[in-house]
Amino acid sequence: MPAIDYKEQLLPNLKKYFGYDSFRPQQEAIISSVLEKKDAIVIMPTGGGKSICYQLPSLLFPKSTLVVSPLIALMKDQVDGCIANGIAAAYFNSSQSTEEQQNILLKISKAELKLLYVAPESMASLEHILNETYISCIAIDEAHCISSWGHDFRPSYQQLGFLKKSMPNTPIIALTATADKATRQDIAEQLGIISAEQFITSFDRKNISLTVRPADGRVDQIISFIEDRPNSSGIIYCLSRKTTEQLVDRLKAKKMNAQAYHAGLSFDERTKVQEDFIFDKTKIVCATVAFGMGIDKSNVRWVIHYNMPKNIEGYYQEIGRAGRDGVAASALLFHSYADVIQLQRFTEGASNQEVQLAKLDRMKQFSEATTCRRKILLSYFGELLAENCGNCDVCKSPPQVFDGTIIAQKILSTIARLNEKEAIGTIIDVLRGAKNAAILEKGLEKVKTYGIGNDISWKDWQHYIIQLINQGYIEIAFQFRNALHLTDFSKNVLFNGAKVSLTKPIVVVETIGNPKEK
Ligand code: ADP
Ligand code: ZN
Repeated sequence: MPAIDYKEQLLPNLKKYFGYDSFRPQQEAIISSVLEKKDAIVIMPTGGGKSICYQLPSLLFPKSTLVVSPLIALMKDQVDGCIANGIAAAYFNSSQSTEEQQNILLKISKAELKLLYVAPESMASLEHILNETYISCIAIDEAHCISSWGHDFRPSYQQLGFLKKSMPNTPIIALTATADKATRQDIAEQLGIISAEQFITSFDRKNISLTVRPADGRVDQIISFIEDRPNSSGIIYCLSRKTTEQLVDRLKAKKMNAQAYHAGLSFDERTKVQEDFIFDKTKIVCATVAFGMGIDKSNVRWVIHYNMPKNIEGYYQEIGRAGRDGVAASALLFHSYADVIQLQRFTEGASNQEVQLAKLDRMKQFSEATTCRRKILLSYFGELLAENCGNCDVCKSPPQVFDGTIIAQKILSTIARLNEKEAIGTIIDVLRGAKNAAILEKGLEKVKTYGIGNDISWKDWQHYIIQLINQGYIEIAFQFRNALHLTDFSKNVLFNGAKVSLTKPIVVVETIGNPKEK
């Protein structure tokens, strides 16, 4: 069939099956490319409309489109959605009886299915139909899972290279919401589609305001944030199950409508939380990262990260669940030094530890940024924002830079006098002349810099020390109980009079990025 025939059928099919009058950016180009049987890599943010990029072509292909997806839990919803739109679809996975599975294979052999969703683990059972007699197109959803460069590596995805080998003339469309350049390259290589065109749609979600706050007293900050937004839906991401539950208790004590969601709940319990959230019966979900994958809820007004995510991909994907309706939404991230250390620990023993640490480092830089955060976020995905966004906390209240040389000297000389053996807490205690047991037991009140900094609060000292770490004046020796070490740069400050710039700590205001303020 000549390409032109397809083109004329695109809009009518979009209307007929999906009810939409126009394509979103890139969708039409992607769909045309697939219909021309070319391989494609699609990087489109969550909620951008990836599904239509293979669902619509599937209607115009003579045989079935195979959709590889790791999200078994969501397959049924996806298939139900297709069927409701009048598209013949089914899924194939280990939860089904042999009879059900046979029935699906039969339908495929009769070309009665347009879409077949399958988990990579179940592919072996599909051997007989995985050839060009039955398959017209292959979609690989969540394609970043194939790459150990990605943030959600799944070994079962690594077998997918055989698809191109066994069906060389079948177009493969690999889709993901998050993949940096190295990951995209890896996806292309592993799937055997190195000449695939890459379609990268803008990652800018202008309607989501970005805010980062120090984590001190974060529960109170969260409560006042939510009180400013009565009856709005939001998600609070936490690192641990325990935190989700404790937070829910604190919110419920304030009569807030919150539920926890984590891997410790049964499948049914999780499904219930998810459904209650989608149908607005539950307003707030305190969740570990697993929550929200594939959730299609347009009126999530805010996303809070109680803990720092381990990389920017994860952060971006999670905040992307807010404001899908295009209305103003907020993303609030709490940044804590303890979280960073914990996340660093989590990488220990991982085969790709260096990659993980590098990604964590970028996340940290984002959290500690003193320039427009959206610029940093977008540049991570290879996009350049010409102007500052005006919708992040840095743009709204730019940090004040001042000559911090004396403060830096006080910190650095304290580290030196403590023989680079103490962690951040002890350094601050010495600076502030604390009289706690740990200080007195070690006789640290005799250190020459003891008490020279009691005019500055504990929190502010922490803020300055973290800045010195970020600027390379101090290193954290993780192998020595997080003792702070000096670097060559800091020696320049101590001995050669080098100047240091610091920024003033942010004063936490009552309302945080509330759209009403604007
Ligand atoms: P993704 O998989 O990229 O996260 P989906 O494919 O689930 O996103 O699409 C997100 C939402 O956008 C869905 O509700 C979908 O129906 C809607 N959508 C997709 N394409 C269009 C379009 N061209 N016009 C309007 N809405 C669209
Ligand atoms: Zn900005």
